[in-house]
Amino acid sequence: MSLGPTVLHVLHVGCDPAPVVNLQAYDASSPRFLASVAPDADVAVTQLTRGTVDCVVCDAGALDADGWAFLHRVADLARDLPVVLTTSADDIPAHLYDATVPSGDTTRLASVVTELVRTDDPGPPAGETAVALLDRADEYVAHVARDGTVRMVGASTAERLGLARDAVVGRQLDDLLDPTTAGELLSIGRSVLDAETGREFSDELGGRHYHAVFEPVGPDCFEVIVRDVTAARRTERAFHEERAFLETVVDSLTDVFFVLDLDGRLVRWNDRLEAVTGRDETSLRGADPLEFVADADVPEARRQLDAVVDGGEVTAELELVDGNGETVPFEFTASLVTGDDGTPRYVCAVGRDISARRATQADLDDAIAELERSNAELEQFAYVASHDLKEPLRMVSSYLQLLERRHADDLDEEASEFIEFAVDGAYRLQEMIDDLLEYSRVGRSDRALELVDCNAVLETVRRNLAVAIEDSGATVEVGDLPTVQGDRSQLVELFQNLVSNAIKYTESGERPHVTVTADAADDRWLFVVEDEGMGISADRVDRVFDLFYRSEIQDSTGIGLALVQKIVERHGGEVWVESTPGEGSSFFVALPRE
Ligand code: ADP
Repeated sequence: MSLGPTVLHVLHVGCDPAPVVNLQAYDASSPRFLASVAPDADVAVTQLTRGTVDCVVCDAGALDADGWAFLHRVADLARDLPVVLTTSADDIPAHLYDATVPSGDTTRLASVVTELVRTDDPGPPAGETAVALLDRADEYVAHVARDGTVRMVGASTAERLGLARDAVVGRQLDDLLDPTTAGELLSIGRSVLDAETGREFSDELGGRHYHAVFEPVGPDCFEVIVRDVTAARRTERAFHEERAFLETVVDSLTDVFFVLDLDGRLVRWNDRLEAVTGRDETSLRGADPLEFVADADVPEARRQLDAVVDGGEVTAELELVDGNGETVPFEFTASLVTGDDGTPRYVCAVGRDISARRATQADLDDAIAELERSNAELEQFAYVASHDLKEPLRMVSSYLQLLERRHADDLDEEASEFIEFAVDGAYRLQEMIDDLLEYSRVGRSDRALELVDCNAVLETVRRNLAVAIEDSGATVEVGDLPTVQGDRSQLVELFQNLVSNAIKYTESGERPHVTVTADAADDRWLFVVEDEGMGISADRVDRVFDLFYRSEIQDSTGIGLALVQKIVERHGGEVWVESTPGEGSSFFVALPRE
């Protein structure tokens, strides 16, 4: 804090302090300007953390990327501190400064600074004396003559010395302070009088830190304002330690991390970004991150950045160009950072190198493609093999039957029996080939799916199985079934296999009882084909859908349920069985609803 509007401490950042030196020399009765000059941002920040500055003046023309980042730090450190830019500044975010003044216009600068600080600090009520002001100040204030006589002190100074103000005024400095301190203060005060300009310095005394401002207040009298900055120093140190800690954490990330301002310029980043882009600090500061995004991904990156600024959190895969010009895939997550008042301030992003993941995905895609290819080949093989086997098989069975018919009288009983076995074998082979052919056709079918009424499907099934139903004395009950999107003949095949198994796998002597029902379950239809047959033991239940997995009974090929599974999968559904040996089985078929 300043001493109110009578003394304004102006910090100039930049190499040419002319504007504020002129300001100091500016002939205005009130306020007086006390100027200090910080050649670079770090010195300026140190001054700011001491809290002795009322207003910052920057030459916008001299603001390079560093100085510009400095404005962000000012906003972070002391949000309310007025910042004035000399000359025009089109490309600086408006929230980083309070006013611009044409360079060289000292009168304007003086009035803008005064105005801004007044707005910031209403100052003392009119009519209050300088002494009353000094008394209210936290600083130790004294006016000292060149010969070391104390002319005036603030209340806190007298209090610190343990004396009444009257007992201090008129005494020599070395009467009041230890000789070394008094000598130092006097020598700086005299140099200030000689140079006719103010000076500041910092020192440590008895484990406490002080910051002193010396200023000539008359031809032979100087003012010294001493502020105990121990607490500020501690805060500053804690701030630096905290900052160093955060930087270490961020730098040790194996991911890329960076922060952009709302104009999309880099303000912070970690070592990993430097390593990936092959760029150093100077070339990264203020850079546009789209510069190191691969050309093809720039429009997408821009879209995503806009989406973050609009308030969203985004995740995007983008390719970066590394220091060797190679592209590297990254997955970025970015979000908006807002200030305490909720206004957007920065975009913060973390990017992970996903080269390894991409490579694994590519391998996986290759493996899937290979699997699909070999599957198709296998289906083609099964089709060709079963199709081509049919003809020679037909020849074998028809000649066997011819032999049986024409030469029955010439053959003895054993030969007839052998022929019968051979015919039977050929018949079973025929069945297996037919089933296999059917199985291979499911995958090869490119018939479009249509709306199929499952009630009609079950009617067909019932007709096709009329003989088996009749012979076994089975009852087949069918509930109200839905219409589904499917391949009609495959759906007939599906339910025919399930119903015929339900009839077939019944203990001998029992009359099979089969029910077919369907219910809506979420986004699927759940069909159940239930029987009261022999059931399936727990150790076999997982294998019944395997190709060629079958029981030992006569007309079993082990293809029926494999075919069922293939048809269900082709329809985007799922099939499973629950069974209790001796009580029956329930086959569940879940098909998508339209
Ligand atoms: P298949 O009936 O030609 O042997 P499937 O693939 O249709 O071939 O069936 C495989 C095996 O699953 C059958 O051999 C039988 O052991 C068992 N199975 C199928 N359906 C039932 C059922 N409803 N009840 C009991 N076991 C069954």
